[in-house]
Amino acid sequence: MRQEFQGHGASRGSALGRARVRLPHALEVAEERITHEQVEGELGRLHAAIDTVRHEMHALRERLHGALAHEVGEFLDLHTLLLDDPELLQGLDELIRTGHYAADYALRLQRDRIASVFEAMDDAYFRSRVDDIDQVIGRIHAALHRRDHDTSGVAGEILVTDNVAPAELAQLQAQGVMAIVTAAGSALSHSAILARSLHLPLIVGASQALLKINDGDALVVDGATGTVILEPNAEDLRGHRARTRELARERKQLHRLRREPTRTLDGVDIKLYANAESREDVAEAHALGAAGVGLYRTEFLFLQRNELPDEDEQFRVYRDVVLGMTGRTVTIRSLDLGADKADKTGLVLRDEPNPALGVRGVRLSLAREGLLETQLRAILRASGYGPVRVLVPMVSSTEEVRTVRALLRKVAADLRKQGHEIAEHVPLGAMIEVPAAAIALPGFIGLIDFLSIGTNDLVQYLLAVDRNNEALSDLYTPLHPAVLRVIRDVIRLAKSRGKPVAVCGEMAGDANFAPLLLALGLEEFSLHPATLLELRRAIRGLNLEGLRKRAPALLRAKDRVGIEAWLRA
Ligand code: PEP
Ligand code: MG
Repeated sequence: MRQEFQGHGASRGSALGRARVRLPHALEVAEERITHEQVEGELGRLHAAIDTVRHEMHALRERLHGALAHEVGEFLDLHTLLLDDPELLQGLDELIRTGHYAADYALRLQRDRIASVFEAMDDAYFRSRVDDIDQVIGRIHAALHRRDHDTSGVAGEILVTDNVAPAELAQLQAQGVMAIVTAAGSALSHSAILARSLHLPLIVGASQALLKINDGDALVVDGATGTVILEPNAEDLRGHRARTRELARERKQLHRLRREPTRTLDGVDIKLYANAESREDVAEAHALGAAGVGLYRTEFLFLQRNELPDEDEQFRVYRDVVLGMTGRTVTIRSLDLGADKADKTGLVLRDEPNPALGVRGVRLSLAREGLLETQLRAILRASGYGPVRVLVPMVSSTEEVRTVRALLRKVAADLRKQGHEIAEHVPLGAMIEVPAAAIALPGFIGLIDFLSIGTNDLVQYLLAVDRNNEALSDLYTPLHPAVLRVIRDVIRLAKSRGKPVAVCGEMAGDANFAPLLLALGLEEFSLHPATLLELRRAIRGLNLEGLRKRAPALLRAKDRVGIEAWLRA
């Protein structure tokens, strides 16, 4: 029967497909016993499920291609090894045979048993292996519950799950997943950012999804509005087709703008840089006429793997980006791991009481011996191939900027001594995303060459609203007088000192906010290529002088309602 429910649209696109339900990692399975006579049948069910998973992983491994194929492949190999682990398999058999537990409950017991061994280890790397155990057990569990007709593969499926980690998104897409619906999560999370980068429709905060949807149900999802329709009727199917057509038509129209300048009605050129996470993003940014890359998030290079990428590997990736932009500036951000970007290499502390306020961003880079130096060496080596800038995330003090500046100088001198060809000047920039950095900016602006305002974190830290907490999604908004004032002050100070300043948070990619940011003095935006042409179209319809004249009224707005009224006018 048709049902409709609402989440939040986090990555656009309309999709029609079969549901694949993945239960939360901590399997909530009630204790269930079986009789002696049922043992053989239950063992058969379990092993058929394990075989299915083995087969699926093998098929997936064969199909991998593209930018992340190598990393994803390593990930899959590890899971295949776990799947064949005698300890895991014998333990499960034993629980069913002698404990008379149902396969589901045996999986849960065995998961908890193995996880407790890993969790007791001192080494963060081994502790993080629990995630892999969970994924493998989760796959077996899902296979146990799949309907018979539904075991042929995962292409054409819409994943329905509690939450999705940034590290698994590329893998899911490679598997043929067409869209994802999560019960929790937020549109500002790094998973959402990555989903947009992959053009994978994503709906978050659809709290009823796991209760209502079963494996194999037909779904229509709309990543723009956040609507999920279970067992769609004829009208829904027509709606889906119309949206898909409309999207294609709009894309075609926008496409005509890819060689046009981003110029306001009164003739001022605005720079649109691209935020990039992958090689595909870089190619798209180049094709759409981006001024350069304004934010290359290097942490995505560290997320899907078990060892740190060394200097040479990093250098080759950064050089690829630089070459891909053919002479346009590439801004490479130093590692911003931590908080919701937890890696598997053991760099990020697993048990921080408050990870968003923890050892993340530049703090992590400076805390680990050699980490930043290796990365700066790789970035500077890439600067021999085209214009490069270095951007430092999560800056909160002048000391951090001073330390990075000194290290950059040392690394440049070392590389020159070693005979590397590097650019004469590699500008150093700071992300302004911690309120303290915005306030203390006069103290360190002399140490840096450019600024980038990260509104995703700036909003979170200014308003004390977790960007990943679905329950606070109404409070998480850049349309707050405090946010606007901080942005205005940072832009004003940067301009007075002749330093380029951009906004690179998700706010910059939303064409609805363009009038507001232009009014506050912004002339450089950095955004995902997915919305670059929309922003260009919006800016080409705006009069900059008129907007600047209306800035005082914007800054007088007392609340969100007032700011929204300004935007409407
Ligand atoms: C930001 O915080 O606005 C930003 C661009 O960085 P990230 O989203 O990667 O934290
Ligand atoms: Mg940030």
